Amino acid sequence: MNIKPRMAILFGALLLLGSCAYQGVNQYPFSLAIPRYHDLLPFLYSIMADHPGSIQHRILGFSGSERLPLYAVEMGRGERNILIIGQHHADELLGVAICEHMIRELSEGSESDAGIRKVLDEYRIWIVPSLNPEGWRVVSEGLARIKRKNNRDTDDNGKLDLRTDGVDLNRNYPIFWDQDTETNHMSSYFKGSAPSSEDEVKAIINLARKVPFELAIFYHSSITGALNERIFLPAVNDEDPRFLKLREQADFYAARATRDYFRGTYSVHRGSSSRVGNARNFFYHSQNAGAMLIEVGGVNRKGQSIIHPPEKMVKRINKRHYKAFIALMQHMSELD
Ligand SMILES: [Zn+2]
Repeated sequence: MNIKPRMAILFGALLLLGSCAYQGVNQYPFSLAIPRYHDLLPFLYSIMADHPGSIQHRILGFSGSERLPLYAVEMGRGERNILIIGQHHADELLGVAICEHMIRELSEGSESDAGIRKVLDEYRIWIVPSLNPEGWRVVSEGLARIKRKNNRDTDDNGKLDLRTDGVDLNRNYPIFWDQDTETNHMSSYFKGSAPSSEDEVKAIINLARKVPFELAIFYHSSITGALNERIFLPAVNDEDPRFLKLREQADFYAARATRDYFRGTYSVHRGSSSRVGNARNFFYHSQNAGAMLIEVGGVNRKGQSIIHPPEKMVKRINKRHYKAFIALMQHMSELD
């Protein structure tokens, strides 16, 4: 063997080593474990083919600008309704990955696992992998790496401005909307021109009016790293028994969600919570449901937020959150 092929092999081995050793990086293009928008429907069809009858697949409505379907998957036959929304913000895709993992595991478990069958007899679990298919599409297609809002043409110039157009769907719910001062339509946190102006938010409100949810869980990820691996609860004036019960559930989940790059587990944020039109405030105050936001994605040893990790880490995160969720369902059933 002459020197060139040897060097190539050595270089290849080093590359391989490097990619295994440093899990704490954001990958772009995204790893294959990060779900792509165009793969969602084929994924749901494959679940229905492999596990007939395990899921009911519905369309809650359509996105406002591109009329993309808002899919929901209903699992279980119980009387206690639980809602999971994997994504409000375009580049926050770990929640979508967790939702798909849950759908797959629950479908398989419904056939082979007595513990899962018991959960599905007691609960009806509604999983909405994405409430922001427009933003997800843009990020999936590689048109933008960082994006938060939907694709509403907020400056009315007849075209999609990827960096500035759109409404922050998690500021558009009809609760505390007046108290949110973000009226600049160029801002990533633009609350919209009116409460529930966005069809995506309207679709969830319609669902919430029909189904009495006991608990709603929203997965998010924060690229700034300021919020990672924490659970946020609704804004309240006093910590009454209903709030304390919710906090106990959040603490229970947090204690079972292991951190990505450090020892220890998630924690529940204890300080004040945003008084804006977000989903957790809407479900807690208007729908009498428990509601929590879970910030998935870790901080690496350099202090960087990792929300688009390599495949191995995505799979690890999926498993951890699925386990924590199932444990919470079992815990809630023991308490009541
Ligand atoms: Zn978010």
